[in-house]
Amino acid sequence: MITLFPDMCESVLSESIIGRAQKSGALDLRFHQLRDFAFDKHKRVDDSTYGGGMGMLMMAEPIALCFEHICKEVGEKPYFVYMSPKGKVLNQQKLKEISAKKNVCVLCGHYEGVDQRVIDEFVDEEISIGDYVLTGGELPALVFVDALSRLEEGVLSNDECFTLESHYDGLLEYPQYTKPAVWREKEVPPVLLSGHHKNIEKWRREQSVIETARLRPDMLKDAELSDDEKELAESIISGNIAQNTKKS
Ligand code: SAM
Repeated sequence: MITLFPDMCESVLSESIIGRAQKSGALDLRFHQLRDFAFDKHKRVDDSTYGGGMGMLMMAEPIALCFEHICKEVGEKPYFVYMSPKGKVLNQQKLKEISAKKNVCVLCGHYEGVDQRVIDEFVDEEISIGDYVLTGGELPALVFVDALSRLEEGVLSNDECFTLESHYDGLLEYPQYTKPAVWREKEVPPVLLSGHHKNIEKWRREQSVIETARLRPDMLKDAELSDDEKELAESIISGNIAQNTKKS
């Protein structure tokens, strides 16, 4: 990661699952301070924009020098991602695509962003985390690196497997419950206590379709659904089946 705030990024990613994955060797995350590649004695990495306007822009050369240093360190040109509000909005499909790359380098912008020439020269892809603007690329990069890391082999244990989660197969995850079986008079759906794996699986799949139809109907156009599931989704959307089908 190329950033003006490596300590901030490192501290977030050293916690919990991603931190453990680094310790176990499943992940190798490196944080590069862009100022180390500044070429003047004040360690400046930004300057005013040509054509006028408020705000400063990150200069091309420190970024180029840092990226070239990383290429040497890694022994190849990593896939270079610039976190940017102009980029393609991140989703699970994009993460799957990028997780196939051996090495990924993430550039965090700051101020008004970065000189366009360095983007044109080195960046493979600009990625946004949503249609809004943050002050810097660190939070977007942390989101991106966390989500990407979960797809790496050895990062998640079997219990935490990502293939059963929302978005992996184009649907949202089914509702989940833990102990106690009755909480403030609200019961866990009985099927989940039945121990009947086939029925549980069927219930979960149905609930995934229902959750998606209820919360994200826009996702259904790309999901692979059987005719019965399509009918179920349509009934939810048209309001024919009440939400309490969860209790069936
Ligand atoms: N002037 C830029 C524009 O209008 O497109 C915005 C620059 S923003 C204030 C500073 C940096 O924050 C960007 O260079 C980028 O790295 C990061 N950033 C801000 N919003 C982002 C988003 N939605 N997704 C990814 N990165 C973002």
